[in-house]
Amino acid sequence: MERRETAEFYRDIARDLAAKFAPRADRWDKSRSYCWENVADMAAGGVMGMTIPTKYGGKGASYFETVVVVEEIAKACTLSARIVVEANMGGISAVMAYGSEAQRELAAPLVLAGDKPAICITEPGAGSAATEMTTTARQVNGGYVLNGRKHWITGGGVSKLHLVFARVLDGAGEDLGIGGFLVLSDHSTGSVPAGFRVAGREHTLGLCGMPEAELVFQDLFVENDMVLTPPSGFRRGFADLMNAYNSQRVGAGTIAMGVAAGALDHAARYLKERRQFGRPLAEFQGLQWMLADMDAGVHASRLMLHEAAKSRGPDGSLFPDITMAARAKAFASETAVKVVDNALQIFGARGYSDREPLERMYRDVRMFTIGGGTAQILKTQIAGSLLGIKTPQTRTGYAELAQRNWGSE
Ligand SMILES: Cc1cc2nc3c(=O)[nH]c(=O)nc-3n(C[C@H](O)[C@H](O)[C@H](O)COP(=O)(O)OP(=O)(O)OC[C@H]3O[C@@H](n4cnc5c(N)ncnc54)[C@H](O)[C@@H]3O)c2cc1C
Repeated sequence: MERRETAEFYRDIARDLAAKFAPRADRWDKSRSYCWENVADMAAGGVMGMTIPTKYGGKGASYFETVVVVEEIAKACTLSARIVVEANMGGISAVMAYGSEAQRELAAPLVLAGDKPAICITEPGAGSAATEMTTTARQVNGGYVLNGRKHWITGGGVSKLHLVFARVLDGAGEDLGIGGFLVLSDHSTGSVPAGFRVAGREHTLGLCGMPEAELVFQDLFVENDMVLTPPSGFRRGFADLMNAYNSQRVGAGTIAMGVAAGALDHAARYLKERRQFGRPLAEFQGLQWMLADMDAGVHASRLMLHEAAKSRGPDGSLFPDITMAARAKAFASETAVKVVDNALQIFGARGYSDREPLERMYRDVRMFTIGGGTAQILKTQIAGSLLGIKTPQTRTGYAELAQRNWGSE
């Protein structure tokens, strides 16, 4: 029998964590360092791996309970919120859903102790068109040999558990589809498998404490028992693995919404504090209307995200519905960029300086319309569901789609 804590129970834990994290957030940003201190607090507070079933030492919490936590933490520290998301949704969810017993027993303690798994899909030549990936996993005796290059891998160099998406080739080189491969490495102890290398780190606009790394695989051997076999095999492997990723999209949208909710709180406080023209800014109706619009954006985002977190895809899927997840993430991320921008405006010059967290939040929130599926790609998916058209996933997909639907290129 799984545990039954309430969302309020988790919200209280998250608020305590957020109160500790707020004064530290600037430090990780300025020093571009990973927030290990927060990770230790989050592991002790039981939110790292809270979605992991109790059988494997987790809390068996729902995605809804997780997003409640994510929102509170994101108000204070975007970096920590990203870690919570990836320690509960996405890669770890795929392992818990599709993995063997041994894989679950391997992954769970790592995450519960503070590891944020890395999910490795994007390549220099395969961004939105992810199925154009060229990283290969060639079948050999006892396992697979990986060759390729991934970039923009969140946590590259600090994460221990990696879920690497690769094109699977049989011994004769025939393309069997896309599979997931579990790779362990520990850069803190130097225990890194031969053929695995962190080749570089991006210098990013925001979320500066999070490494966004390039990873290179050169004849990296992965044993058969580290292959995360999608339920329908490699042919539909990408679709199955991306289903798990829908949970991460809901998490990412929630971070954006949480940052916006935090910015809204700051703006409301400042409107009452700051006086101009002999009265508090709060008395100016134009600013009140801005605040009301910001509140409506945050509220609408929260409702969509909660709906998506509680949803499940068709056919007994363990993961959120693809369209609800896409809608919630696209809407919440675009809304959050506007809300944080308006909050910064309310602070005037002060908002533009690092005396206030707005400046950092403004930089942090910008990524959420890009990472984890851009707003455009998510909207294409939503439109596809409205129009009954399958979103093209391959180089030739758009031409095939046009041919199928309209008889022309
Ligand atoms: C901070 C951050 C963290 C990330 N973390 C990870 C990670 O951990 N693991 C991982 O695998 N990847 C990660 N990514 C990569 C991310 O998933 C990709 O950036 C994203 O999928 C877009 O790919 P791209 O950047 O190559 O843009 P492109 O695909 O080159 O797109 C460029 C622009 O064109 C638009 N576009 C492209 N195709 C279409 C189309 N058909 N219709 C309309 N518009 C289109 C896009 O929306 C975008 O605006 C991360 C990215 C960022 C910024």
